[in-house]
Amino acid sequence: MTRSDKTTNSQPILPGSVIGVLGSGQLGRMFAIAARRMGYRVHTFSPETDTPTGQVADVEIKAHYDDLIAVRGFASDVDVVTFEFENIPAETAQAAAERALVRPGGAVLHTTQNRRREKTFLRDNGFPVTPFRAVNSLEDLKAGLNEFGCPAVLKTAGFGYDGKGQTKITSHDQAEAAMTAAGKQEMILEAWVDFACELSVVGARGADGAFTHWGAIQNDHRNHILDVSVAPANLPLEITRDAVEIARAVLEQLDVVGVLCVEFFLTRDGRLLINELAPRPHNSGHLTFDACVTSQFEQQLRAVCGLPLGSTELLRPAAMANLLGDLWPCVRGESGEPNWAAACAFPNVKLHLYGKLTPKPGRKMGHLTAMAESAEKAAEIVRKAREALI
Ligand code: AMP
Repeated sequence: MTRSDKTTNSQPILPGSVIGVLGSGQLGRMFAIAARRMGYRVHTFSPETDTPTGQVADVEIKAHYDDLIAVRGFASDVDVVTFEFENIPAETAQAAAERALVRPGGAVLHTTQNRRREKTFLRDNGFPVTPFRAVNSLEDLKAGLNEFGCPAVLKTAGFGYDGKGQTKITSHDQAEAAMTAAGKQEMILEAWVDFACELSVVGARGADGAFTHWGAIQNDHRNHILDVSVAPANLPLEITRDAVEIARAVLEQLDVVGVLCVEFFLTRDGRLLINELAPRPHNSGHLTFDACVTSQFEQQLRAVCGLPLGSTELLRPAAMANLLGDLWPCVRGESGEPNWAAACAFPNVKLHLYGKLTPKPGRKMGHLTAMAESAEKAAEIVRKAREALI
């Protein structure tokens, strides 16, 4: 195939082809497992080695994202490039696109890797989004606090996930300190949402525009980090239907080819507000790996390869619990490992570990998925299995 064929290819990319993954974390690892199961080869690119993705990929390239010569070389050796980490610089995606098809396209990455751009895109296109305003100075922040009242959340526009770069402001006199702590960065201020619950819709869009989703998944966060996800969400049908319709419209508007997750707050008065978009498989969709006919990772593969999308049917109600580094005895200055055998004693629980070498507080090291006759039961089992690790 010539270079221009490779960047504009409209033919399906078939098993035996090579998929390039920018980023090397657990999302890339689970994607690589799905891809290798279907007979694809996987190359991964990141500034590290012995990474969660690299451990299961065919080839692990270690280079910085701004090494555009390395990026072009990486893209030249693969049939399609995707990413598992949205904070890839836009120039990196552009350089890759000179040598291979990049899916989802760089414009999706550009919009979603910056909270200000993402929220502006959502608001301008009529999607319901948490009230926000851009903050460039202390005056902007004070004006925002007057508009939204306290509490409110100051967030960095770039490089934010799992509550990183966020400060909750509970009184007007904290404004100056919050601004000083933030330094000279592009910020947004968001109104505090007193939500009834959080939910997400993981959607997938094929190269032909076909749309699939896994329904509404209900999410509990702890310290701003996802703790437990449950499917199907225990919500009125019309809320689920509306959330799915919003997700479908977002994927269409962004012309996504691949998987994108829409995270929502459901307010106490029954309104859905979009909190955030993630242009890739998402932590809340990990339970699809064990509990669905087609997982979010296989669907991402099918989409970026231009294959028909698979059934997203949930085979059994399921719940997923994250395993953070805090569970490791060494993080508390003790010796030993979590009690894996005790978790494996739950016959309907599946253990996923990401191969990360150093546990740290708040670091996602793995997850457990439980399946049961009801979502509530699955949530109860997965929490018990996690407790058994300690
Ligand atoms: P984020 O990184 O923006 O997704 O935030 C992580 C978590 O912090 C969310 O899932 C919420 O639990 C909480 N959070 C973030 N923004 C807000 C907000 N504006 N109002 C209430 N809770 C929030």
